[in-house]
Amino acid sequence: MLSYLHGFHAGNFADIHKHAAMRIILDYLCNKEKPFCVIDTHAGSGWYDLGSAQSAKTGEWKNGIAAAQKKGNAPKQMQPFLDQIAAFDPIAKGRDYGVFEDDDLKGPFYPGSPFIMRELLREHDEMILMELHPREYDLLEYSVERDPRIHLHKRDGYEGLVGMMPPAIRRGLVLMDPSYDVKQDYQKAASSIKRAWERWENGIFMLWYPILEAGFDAELRENFAQIKAKGGVLCAELSTNQGGAKGRMRGTGLLIINPPYGFDQEFDEIGQWLCDAVKLPGPATHRTHWLVPSQ
Ligand code: SAM
Repeated sequence: MLSYLHGFHAGNFADIHKHAAMRIILDYLCNKEKPFCVIDTHAGSGWYDLGSAQSAKTGEWKNGIAAAQKKGNAPKQMQPFLDQIAAFDPIAKGRDYGVFEDDDLKGPFYPGSPFIMRELLREHDEMILMELHPREYDLLEYSVERDPRIHLHKRDGYEGLVGMMPPAIRRGLVLMDPSYDVKQDYQKAASSIKRAWERWENGIFMLWYPILEAGFDAELRENFAQIKAKGGVLCAELSTNQGGAKGRMRGTGLLIINPPYGFDQEFDEIGQWLCDAVKLPGPATHRTHWLVPSQ
């Protein structure tokens, strides 16, 4: 069942928290000349028009990226991400970003995970993308097909990830960002990442999850606490006690295996800033803690 479309939610508070973390990890990978690979198991359509009917229907981006852009005084590690979003302009890139002359685009625009990462790839780096939704896949294909560093698969991200382990370039990041349309996604995500990590023990793995009233996230953390990675397993959550009724998120979480050294403190500072910058259903708190300490 593929009912989820990220266009309704692009640029919301959960995206900002997740994408800021991903951007910082990418910045660490870029610090060394050695090539890296990034694997995005649930890629979405690539980038989003926040002036579209989908975005207008929920308006979620206004409490996310728009609020963060307005806040000011961002921690210095957050600034490159905010600058990248402000400068993101698919129209200027044209066909290389999948824009055709008769497209009816309004803007502003928000890059999804594939485009935040694409803009940081160097000549010798690689990106592997998986997406199952036929329409989202087609949009993604239009926008990346001219880039030889990118390999796109219409394939199940859980199975696909395990099948491609370990990657040819043994330095890099896996992002798993499921839509959690169905409850089984929690189990599949934990099992797929565990199996993939067993084949690539020094890879960095990042799983996103929503914090809902139903509390499905507790089992995810328990499963990740069993992954005895040398670089540890970090949990970072931005949440509120209020709201979250009728399946709405009251928070957002990340589980990160082998985060770069120093990432935990840098990202916690960003999380504290995000508590005041973005808008959740109630007052927000941020917590970063190790489920498995790094050795
Ligand atoms: N990672 C994207 C970003 O940050 O811009 C957003 C991804 S969205 C939350 C989840 C995507 O996963 C949707 O586009 C959905 O169609 C896709 N999807 C759902 N189940 C999938 C599966 N089993 N394998 C691959 N993609 C899947």
